[in-house]
Amino acid sequence: MTPKVHKKSDNSLGLSTLQDISALILQSHDLDETLNNIVKLVSDRAHSEVCSIYLLDDDAVTLRLRASQGLDPASIGSVSLKIGEGLTGQVAKEQRLIALEEPQNHPHYRYFAETKEEQFHTFVGIPLFDRTLTIGVLVIQNRDLYHYSEEELSTLTTIAFQVASIVVNARLLDTIDNQQFLELETIGAEETQSRELDTEEYVVLRGQIAYPGVVSGQANIIDQQLGFADIFDEQDVNIEAELKKLDEALRKTRIQTLYLEKRVADKLSQEDAAIFHTHLMILEDRGFIERLHDRIEEGHSAPYALKKVIGGYLKAFGKMEDAYLRERAADMEDIGRRLLANLVGQVTEGLQLQHEGILVAKRLLPSDMAILDHELIRGMIIESNEANSHSVIMAKALGIPAVIGVKGALSQIEPDAELILDANAGAIYLNPSDSILDEYFRLEHDRLQEKERLDKLREVPATTRDNQRVMLRANIGLISDINIARKNGAEGVGLYRTEFPYMARSSFPDREDQYQLYKRVIEDFKGEPVTIRTLDIGGDKALPYFTPPQEDNPFMGWRSVRVSLDNREIFQTQIEAILMAAVHGPIRLLFPMISNFEEIRSCKEIVHEAKQNLKRLGIPYEENIPLGAMIEVPAAVRISPHLAKEVDFFSLGTNDLVQYLLAADRGNNLVERYYDPLHPAVLLSIEYLAQVAKQHDTDICLCGEMATDPACLLALIGLGIRQFSISAPYIPRLKEFINSIDSTEATKLAAEILTLPESKAIRARLLEKIDNFSAN
Ligand code: PEP
Ligand code: MG
Repeated sequence: MTPKVHKKSDNSLGLSTLQDISALILQSHDLDETLNNIVKLVSDRAHSEVCSIYLLDDDAVTLRLRASQGLDPASIGSVSLKIGEGLTGQVAKEQRLIALEEPQNHPHYRYFAETKEEQFHTFVGIPLFDRTLTIGVLVIQNRDLYHYSEEELSTLTTIAFQVASIVVNARLLDTIDNQQFLELETIGAEETQSRELDTEEYVVLRGQIAYPGVVSGQANIIDQQLGFADIFDEQDVNIEAELKKLDEALRKTRIQTLYLEKRVADKLSQEDAAIFHTHLMILEDRGFIERLHDRIEEGHSAPYALKKVIGGYLKAFGKMEDAYLRERAADMEDIGRRLLANLVGQVTEGLQLQHEGILVAKRLLPSDMAILDHELIRGMIIESNEANSHSVIMAKALGIPAVIGVKGALSQIEPDAELILDANAGAIYLNPSDSILDEYFRLEHDRLQEKERLDKLREVPATTRDNQRVMLRANIGLISDINIARKNGAEGVGLYRTEFPYMARSSFPDREDQYQLYKRVIEDFKGEPVTIRTLDIGGDKALPYFTPPQEDNPFMGWRSVRVSLDNREIFQTQIEAILMAAVHGPIRLLFPMISNFEEIRSCKEIVHEAKQNLKRLGIPYEENIPLGAMIEVPAAVRISPHLAKEVDFFSLGTNDLVQYLLAADRGNNLVERYYDPLHPAVLLSIEYLAQVAKQHDTDICLCGEMATDPACLLALIGLGIRQFSISAPYIPRLKEFINSIDSTEATKLAAEILTLPESKAIRARLLEKIDNFSAN
């Protein structure tokens, strides 16, 4: 009998399915439950009789049925096949989607009696990946003949991606579970203190600059310990009562978390608030709650159970190799502290700032930053050295000068002590004498005058004395950076690092989410161009839900466009969202870390496919979007004449180019002196690239931080670069600098310094010239 052809569906397998899956992941508390919910939902929305998920066993060759809607429940866990066996095994082996009508005619078809499966006339198998490794297969089967549209297959692929990432995350949590849960140790004053007695008059503490600026004021100490030090085990606890207390504290903490999320979203942005969504997920996580229940049922009080469980998590996170994941311990600590406060009926004292001043804390948790009155924070001094922590990100968004990694700050700074925080130099002056304060006030007065002067320049273009126009655009990462960029007079965005919004979330944002985000950025820039760079993860940037591989040399490894090209669906989704947003303003699309010609060709192919897909779906998009390549690998500099024929613009990423050219890790203090942007090899490479760009009429914008150093900026203008994208707070001062120089003289000087063998002499010549300009 010929099977009926299934009617075209009402396209219910769309965005709402993806959203519902995200909601399911939030609501369900363990892997099996989540997988079961997903197969039910997908088979319902896809109008398919069967939806199954197979996952790879530890032996890395056996695929086992882990969840199914439609197959005999008894077969779940028992049916297995090897990679390459049957159609499902074939999907895993070939690592590609297979969609077939009449699958029984396929040579790889295999029938499993255990599943009591009937004759199915349509088969779709989609591989589940953890980076490049297959970890399972999602299978859809229909009794009738059904032709899945491209759009439906693409939605199924995204679903498969979501499934893969929850599997990877669940395994990560399992790894943590299997580690020994140890008692929480009280955080002691163990560190050696970075204290200097510079003169007899004052003490200087040093740290790393998180956000520049200079301020003075009284110390506002936030000595928020976790509070567990005073929690001891109790005898004869009433288990029922403790369980109830815990449930009530969880409920209260969830409500407070929602409030914090809203407060930060109102004050800053949805992006900055996203971390509280993750907190909410943890507060609802079944594994977390069960662990607390288990401890209580063993006879411990609820606060003591919490102390043990949070302590275990902190220990486990602390052992993680990846800095980003390690810093997520702050979130666990934050949750633990708020839960404890609700358990023991503590009010969060100490968080009300009594006066305006400089905040001093061992570590600032996201909720502290959300609760504190930002108007009263002039500056921040933080002992911990967590540059990626959400509180530091929020401080930057608010433009608060901050120094982090200041060892011994709490033990040395008394409450209300007079401080000068020089976050331009990473120094803190403690109890300065009157003469030092006078000197500081004089500087502050000068600075205020400078600010007034610079504020007037906001709307004035950067133009050299000889009328060469220079563009100063902003590097942005979070939505809250837009305000900082606009406040500082940026002419659009030269580099939007899209990994930041990805980092702030708990799973991959879908096309619609990304589109809304990019649309907001371009609309906020009111006609100014915005260059959006596709995902640049790997190296020092990891996503919490996309476990980075263990690599000996991550900066030379699987990062940036290499990750994107190996995950085409995610890549294409992002490109589609960017093409859609480009309808609303002048967006340019940039590919990072291009190191060979084939890569740019592949990127362009995906742009083409993305356009075709949007066209098919009838979604408006920009056909003529300018495409660019980041030139940040030495190889790309050398092949730039070929790349110039393929792209509309170059973005010169000197942060990476310098590290790759000079073999000096950009984040390693030990090799800081080798990381030298004025090294002749760097300048010669830039000169070559600038020439190539000129010959091919290819637009070029330099978006590395070296441009924030006036000596470097003078050299770069001399080499012919006219567009820069930098951290926005530097823009006003650099604009003033550019207005004071002469580009013809800079060009002559550049020709001269290119002949010099070492950077010391190069810098000396540049500084001499700068003095010369300011004298005239
Ligand atoms: C660069 O490498 O110069 C650059 C701008 O990109 P990122 O700092 O994000 O690597
Ligand atoms: Mg880079």
